[in-house]
Amino acid sequence: MRLKNLRLKLRVWSPFRYTATKCGHRTKQTGNITAFGRTIIISMPKNKKGSVDYCLECIGKMTIQCAWCRNPIFIGNPITLYSPGPHGELFFSSEEPSEVQKERRDGDFIIPDHAIAYSENPPVLVGCLRMNCADTGADRAGFWMPGEDGKGAVQRVPTVYELMLGTEGKSMMLIGDTHDIVEAMNPTLVPHEAKKIG
Ligand SMILES: [Zn+2]
Ligand SMILES: [Zn+2]
Repeated sequence: MRLKNLRLKLRVWSPFRYTATKCGHRTKQTGNITAFGRTIIISMPKNKKGSVDYCLECIGKMTIQCAWCRNPIFIGNPITLYSPGPHGELFFSSEEPSEVQKERRDGDFIIPDHAIAYSENPPVLVGCLRMNCADTGADRAGFWMPGEDGKGAVQRVPTVYELMLGTEGKSMMLIGDTHDIVEAMNPTLVPHEAKKIG
C-alpha cells in the first residue's frame, strides 16, 4: 500500500465531523464514497471557513459515468473531452486501439443516455483518463469537480497539445500543478457547467 493510501485509511477513522458549508450536512473530511459499483476513499480539501464545501454523500452523488467506457468518474478525477466519430491523427498509449477507443472513433457512434455533454454542437463528451479509454494521458482536458449548482462540472485545464499550440478555451483556467486536486478545487476557479443529454 502506498503511503498516501495508508494516510487516507487512517483519516477515515477520525471521529471529527464538519458541517459542510454548501450543502449543510454533517460529514467527515475523509471517507468512502460508492457509485456505479466502485468505492473510493476521498479526502476533501478544507475551504476558507475551515470546513468542507460538501458532505461525502453529496460528493458521491456528483459521480458520473464515462461517456465511452461507463466507468465511474468521481469528483477530483481527471477527464478527457472527445467528440464521437473519426478524427485526425491517432495517438495511442497502447500499440493497438482498445474496443472502447475504436467505438469512440466509429462514425455511427450513438451517444448513450448516461453521457455528460461538455458542449452540444458538435457533441463533446466527458470521458475518463483510463488507459483503455483515453488515447493518451496527454489528452487530460480537466477535472471533474463540484459545480456551483451542487452538481459535478468540468473544470477545464489545457491539454498538453493545447499548451503546445497556444490555444485556450473560453472558460479554461491555468493552474500551477494540475495534478494537485486541492489546488484544482480552489474556489476562485470558474467551472464550465456541463449538462446531461436527454
Ligand atoms: Zn451534503
Ligand atoms: Zn472511460
